[in-house]
Amino acid sequence: NDVTTDVVIIGGGGAGLSAAIAAKDKGSNVILVEKAAILGGNTNYATGGLNAAETSIQKNKGIKDSVEIFIDDTMKGGKNTNNKTLVEKMANSSAEIVDWLIEKGADLTDLGRMGGQSVDRTHRPTGGAPVGPNMIAALSKTAKESGVDIRLSTFAESIIYDGEAVKGIIVKAPNGQKYNINSKAVVIATGGFGANSDLIVENVASLKGFGTTNHKGATGDGIIMTKPLNVDLVDMEQIQTHPTVIPTNSVMITEAVRGNGAILVNRDGKRFINELDTRDVVSKAELNQKGGSAYLMFDENVKKSLKAIDSYDKKGYLTKGNTIEELAKNLDIPSKELEKTFSKYNESVKTGVDSEFNRQSLPTSLSQGPFYSVEVAPAVHHTMGGIKINENTEVLSNGKPIKGLYAAGEVTGGIHGSNRLGGNAVVDITVFGKIAGENASSFSK
Ligand code: ADP
Repeated sequence: NDVTTDVVIIGGGGAGLSAAIAAKDKGSNVILVEKAAILGGNTNYATGGLNAAETSIQKNKGIKDSVEIFIDDTMKGGKNTNNKTLVEKMANSSAEIVDWLIEKGADLTDLGRMGGQSVDRTHRPTGGAPVGPNMIAALSKTAKESGVDIRLSTFAESIIYDGEAVKGIIVKAPNGQKYNINSKAVVIATGGFGANSDLIVENVASLKGFGTTNHKGATGDGIIMTKPLNVDLVDMEQIQTHPTVIPTNSVMITEAVRGNGAILVNRDGKRFINELDTRDVVSKAELNQKGGSAYLMFDENVKKSLKAIDSYDKKGYLTKGNTIEELAKNLDIPSKELEKTFSKYNESVKTGVDSEFNRQSLPTSLSQGPFYSVEVAPAVHHTMGGIKINENTEVLSNGKPIKGLYAAGEVTGGIHGSNRLGGNAVVDITVFGKIAGENASSFSK
């Protein structure tokens, strides 16, 4: 039952759905295959938000920002090992993608700040609700309504390539039967390889035994299926751990909790790091504490500021104390030390200077009981390396584009360098997903 279309998209996460909608908007026939029974991939797990500069939302709220500062923050976050051309493209397109996503039904009207950003530019749904599910719901609805042929539980096995140009893909249908989807253009949007522990350890041996925050389909299929095409890979050893993951169930606590004021405390009841330092630095600092983990602590005001925290509470992840002393007792850590830590931190909030750890953003004092804590440790979170693309999202082999082959999203590498900033994945996957869809559409004509 082979079929023919203009553009085929592999993967139905944020990148794939953006590509599908963009190609459809340009008048192409589009088939999107997704191996899972549902759309969304890892994007469904994206909580923090979408970083963008000079947006209509920022302007409405009187926040001054510039694309230049966004580029600088991203390069600094990635230790200047990022592909600057891709970073510039992402930052320059960021305000436009916010408007595009809002037009497609996403809610990005609330603003916050994640680690490594010098301006409030993390766009998220009202009340600080998680960005991923909101965006996936909007994009799924738009894709279906606009007539994208979405094939769920359909596994893309390989790419058809004649040595000159791609000709489509071979897929396995839900009933196990294989068929060809013939097309002039293919967009790879299969996501990262955070859930493929073999591939993780092959690239970074020290991550053996680490948990992951990723959905189980993040197995690096895009990397594996492009092997016969000899595509260029970049930064494969750059694997990010997220510093606030619950060790017992691998649930990720969004960085926005720290952004809104939470602190990290060790088993001696002491702070040990600027909580908003980059993810690699915070992860490493936690592993150096007794027990290799830490407590993320906050008060009732921080809890009220973020809907996500409500859901953590309802699911029973939080330890509570009406006073700091009670919280310390419940955690079995020294209460006098913890009280000292809170009052010292609150003093820093008052003066605006964190003389101990130089935390720049001190949004609120932690003085309104009850007080809360959740134990956190680092886990594999994002694979920053992957397929090498140019700013047109063309897949490269020996530095040259392969005709008809495009890639976008976490399957690609280079944009984040050696450290991705929170909130930069969602902008990366949507900006380059849309570009991939548009260019694949033009190529197929
Ligand atoms: P991104 O953030 O780059 O969009 P996601 O993880 O959100 O990445 O989405 C990638 C999607 O691709 C997931 O839903 C995953 O199940 C799907 N996927 C991965 N490999 C394949 C494959 N071989 N065939 C079909 N779908 C795939």
